[in-house]
Amino acid sequence: MKGLVKESLDLDGLTLKSDLPVATPAPWEVKIKVLAASVCGTDKNIYKSSKSPGIKQAMTRYLASEKAYRPIIIGHEFCGVVEAVGEREKANKSEKLPSQLLVEPGDYVTAEMHISCGRCILCRNGNEHICSAVKVKGVHMDGCFAESVIVPYKNVIILGKAGDQSLIPPRIAALLDAFGNAVHCVQEADVRGKSVAVLGAGPLGLMITLLCRHFGAAKILITEIVDLERRFALAREFGAEECFDVSKGSEKLYKAIDASSVESNGLDVVFEVSGAAPAYHDAFKIVRNGGLVVLLGLADKPIDGFDIAQGIVFKGALVKGIFGRKMFETWQMMRRLLATERLALKRDLAKIVAARDYTFDNYEEAFATLIKGQEMKLVFVPGSS
Ligand SMILES: [Zn+2]
Ligand SMILES: [Zn+2]
Repeated sequence: MKGLVKESLDLDGLTLKSDLPVATPAPWEVKIKVLAASVCGTDKNIYKSSKSPGIKQAMTRYLASEKAYRPIIIGHEFCGVVEAVGEREKANKSEKLPSQLLVEPGDYVTAEMHISCGRCILCRNGNEHICSAVKVKGVHMDGCFAESVIVPYKNVIILGKAGDQSLIPPRIAALLDAFGNAVHCVQEADVRGKSVAVLGAGPLGLMITLLCRHFGAAKILITEIVDLERRFALAREFGAEECFDVSKGSEKLYKAIDASSVESNGLDVVFEVSGAAPAYHDAFKIVRNGGLVVLLGLADKPIDGFDIAQGIVFKGALVKGIFGRKMFETWQMMRRLLATERLALKRDLAKIVAARDYTFDNYEEAFATLIKGQEMKLVFVPGSS
């Protein structure tokens, strides 16, 4: 089969292979034919791995050394149709679960691509999303930028039985991994009636903005440094009142917050989504005493000059890191939110994604488009040409 492989971490780019072996699922696994897969910041960092020490470190985390790296298929955001179910799971059919809950060939699905160990104390206590031995498909093991992908049965999320795509169309279903990160952020922060800042107006920052509005935030500010016109236009449409260009510093942002929060001395909740060093300084500067900073962005290296005493201790600030989605509360919430037509989330999410589809054959063009910032998010449709 066809797929995009990361052959060497020392070299940028990917390799399109057309002779990848088609695996059969193990007894506890499911094989899924990929209908659509979306590209995210992590994939972009894998693409230019020679300049991303953080991604090299992440991808070789479970290996004896960087030299022990073996090529894998990348990609972790997708949706597809079940082709085969492993023997053990097929046998489970005899258990008295309603058939709606059973994963069967032909079902329209997506999957949680964080594979937790299921054995550690965190997994056993409902904290699988922070399992200390978690492996990510497309980062540590073969992912979904291929014609098919294999995942554990328990990680499959049914979107429609017997191929029914009416709940969520494939171009949006391919984004659920990313959207789940945004939903998880807002799940962890009660934004009702509160003042909020979102640092970074890329796809995730925009999704968080949209959710904050729907979850009842009183006021939303957003910052960005690139592609300002398009990103700020969408941010405003999604509910941001004020947008700040922080490419040349954050003075304007600080002034605006000082002026608007004399009483509260800062903002109630700050979401850091960019991973950029200056944004961490901004986050802890603009959060109010006792406020919450939610960290989703991945900084590629330690943050220099961060003042923990001023930024966190004296402020009594709360800090919450978000990694992936809660298994599986976030998925359930996402499903409910997307099914609620009144929120029009499918319509709005579509505005973040490039209008045209890409195939694996034109992956170089796809990645160039993302790296140059011409598009924020795009979708591979393996079957199209
Ligand atoms: Zn992703
Ligand atoms: Zn575990």
